[in-house]
Amino acid sequence: MTPVKLNAIITCLRAHFPIHRKVVIRRVKLKLIWGSVVYGDNQITISIDKNSEIKVEILIHEWAHIRCNGVEHSECWGKEYARIYSKIIGVK
Ligand SMILES: [Zn+2]
Repeated sequence: MTPVKLNAIITCLRAHFPIHRKVVIRRVKLKLIWGSVVYGDNQITISIDKNSEIKVEILIHEWAHIRCNGVEHSECWGKEYARIYSKIIGVK
C-alpha cells in the first residue's frame, strides 16, 4: 500500500463517513498491535503500524470504532466496519 493510495482512502473516509472531530492519522512503528485510537482533548489520533501489509483494513477498523463513539467490537462497530469496508474495498 503506497502512501498516496492510503491518502486517497483517508479523503474518501472523511467525505463519506465523517467524524465531527479532528482526526490525525500517524504511520508509526508499533509493537504487538497493528493499530490504536487515542482520544485527546483536541483531536483523535489513529496510529497505524507502518510496516503492516494491511494498513487499509487497520484504518477502517479504527475509523469504525470512532464512528461508534469508541465502543469496542459491538454490533454498532461490526455494522459500521461492514459499511465502510464495502465502500472502500468491496466489490463495486
Ligand atoms: Zn478494534
